[in-house]
Amino acid sequence: MKAFEYERPVGVTEAVALARRAGSRFLGGGTNLVDLMKLGVETPDLLVDLTGLDLAEVLEQPDGALRIGATVRNSDLSANDAVRARYPVLSQALVAGASGQLRNMATVGGNMLQRTRCPYFQDVTKACNKRVPGSGCPARAGEHRNLAILGASEACIATSPSDFAVALAALDAGVTALTTEGEVSLTVSDFFRLPGDEPQRDTNLPPGALVTALTVPRLDWATRSAYRKVRDRASYAFALVSVAAAVDLDGDRVRDVRLALGGVAHAPWRATRAEEALRGGPATEEAFSAALRGELEAAEPLPHNGFKVDLAHNVAVRTLTELTGVPA
Ligand SMILES: Cc1cc2nc3c(=O)[nH]c(=O)nc-3n(C[C@H](O)[C@H](O)[C@H](O)COP(=O)(O)OP(=O)(O)OC[C@H]3O[C@@H](n4cnc5c(N)ncnc54)[C@H](O)[C@@H]3O)c2cc1C
Repeated sequence: MKAFEYERPVGVTEAVALARRAGSRFLGGGTNLVDLMKLGVETPDLLVDLTGLDLAEVLEQPDGALRIGATVRNSDLSANDAVRARYPVLSQALVAGASGQLRNMATVGGNMLQRTRCPYFQDVTKACNKRVPGSGCPARAGEHRNLAILGASEACIATSPSDFAVALAALDAGVTALTTEGEVSLTVSDFFRLPGDEPQRDTNLPPGALVTALTVPRLDWATRSAYRKVRDRASYAFALVSVAAAVDLDGDRVRDVRLALGGVAHAPWRATRAEEALRGGPATEEAFSAALRGELEAAEPLPHNGFKVDLAHNVAVRTLTELTGVPA
């Protein structure tokens, strides 16, 4: 591994000032960054350790929102009483990720900014437009069974690996970040990017921005929410497809619904077309199926990942039927 410097600031102002130095990287739990350093994918000159910052609290806000500090550990947030009671989808998404030991180390900020698990990105002997812009994307003609079916580009078909981010997207959560220029606020949907012709950029954060908090708005009916994940192994594996859903029922009709898909795109995929089709309609398996088929019309699968289209449909329909109690 290349030699690097290490700093442990005690304040956010100092942290963002250090991040102005070329070749600097923030260090959360290190569970992704340090692995990438060992692989030679990341070669920072300076690590700015965030764990001494005062960002490890979960605070209920006067308007009922939940403000989650960026260095809260994944395991702590998944076990938080307010999260478990008010947003089961969030707690379930966190527990669906990695392993107990990793969740004890990993921070929620680092989880949002972890890099793709595309095998070409992680292998420095291969071309990859995300790692080396302009070098090419061998994944289209190569190993792409677990890569994107929605929103991909010629330059990149990588998927976003975070389970937590899929649940946050469904909940319309916000991201707050700090740079030396001031504070920046983005919705989770605006935070992540589709690859386009700049796949080296995972997010719309300005360079050197420190994520300080995630804010989940009050949503009383999110008590009826769930996260379902399908993967090659029962644990310790990234999603082939995942679904974050919350439903508000009015008798046997859908008053409101939130739906996001994971494992299918470069960003959490908010299924807005399906949501629109479902709002005000009957809570039936037929309606759920039709809404998902409409959403997935946008899919452009490759030869080895076409199975994800049916999988996404089936997992989403099953999740909605379970949440609404519709007989299967
Ligand atoms: C074997 C294995 C299996 C896994 N399985 C899953 C899974 O199924 N689902 C899932 O969601 N995750 C999974 N993970 C990923 C794990 O959850 C992440 O490694 C973790 O969440 C990253 O958190 P961290 O704090 O360790 O980040 P770090 O490794 O410290 O940082 C990751 C990136 O985020 C940046 N960063 C960190 N904090 C901030 C901040 N506050 N502001 C700005 N930038 C920041 C860093 O510079 C770095 O680029 C798995 C990891 C491993 C090793």
